[in-house]
Amino acid sequence: MALLALDNVTKAFGGLVAVKELTFELDAGGIAAMIGPNGAGKSTVFNLITGIYAPSSGSIDFDGRSLRGLRTNRIAARGIARTFQNIRLFAFMSALDNVMTGRHARMGASMFDSLLHTPRQRAEERRVRERARELLKFVDLERAGASYARNLPYGSQRRLEIARALASDPKLLLLDEPAAGMNPREKDELIALIGRIRDSGVTVFLIEHDMNLVMNVSERVTVLDHGEKIAEGSPDAVRRDERVIEAYLGRADGAA
Ligand code: ADP
Ligand code: MG
Repeated sequence: MALLALDNVTKAFGGLVAVKELTFELDAGGIAAMIGPNGAGKSTVFNLITGIYAPSSGSIDFDGRSLRGLRTNRIAARGIARTFQNIRLFAFMSALDNVMTGRHARMGASMFDSLLHTPRQRAEERRVRERARELLKFVDLERAGASYARNLPYGSQRRLEIARALASDPKLLLLDEPAAGMNPREKDELIALIGRIRDSGVTVFLIEHDMNLVMNVSERVTVLDHGEKIAEGSPDAVRRDERVIEAYLGRADGAA
């Protein structure tokens, strides 16, 4: 059974069809990528999976159950976490606190507990802080915990956002252009990190423009163009696909 299954999903914004009749499955356990020219509908697919948008038609199942009608926090609690194409950290919060906020989707403490500061809530807070420290270490930011997020170099901010996403203990991690703006050394670190995430048992699905990175890390690639799936398969097969070559070469935006 697929971990994630989109069945005939369409998303229209007024007259603009951003995603068109997309059917696609993701197996648990690997690293998959979604590529396509700017405006192809990739981020919209992530926004549909995470509940920011509801499909105009079609259905999305995760882990054997429909996500229909669920709000973003309920979907996060089911086990889907993400990062954003434009980094969304709390700029004036420490790196450690940023990671801790990622836990909120799964925090057990009730409103009552947090109002009364019960021992149970304090114990949970300690566990969350401890886990956040582990995650900072996991993304190679163990010495940055006290820094404001905004003071970290760009590549570190991207890794911090990944740590925050992992704090919700997801089964599936969606990364929207995680290498955007990174230098070659940061990209190498990112490739290693994505491998470690997969090895920890989290399925990774990424959108990426850097073909080298896509071809290096992903086992499976889906290609979108004008909201439609035009190819899918191994990185090698996709790279040689006529429609894919045409989709990229036919554009002036230099996405390839
Ligand atoms: P990609 O991530 O592949 O570059 P997007 O999914 O961001 O593409 O966008 C696909 C298309 O949908 C674009 O034409 C974009 O302008 C449009 N779009 C995305 N979000 C919205 C929205 N909230 N309202 C209107 N149009 C949108
Ligand atoms: Mg996008």
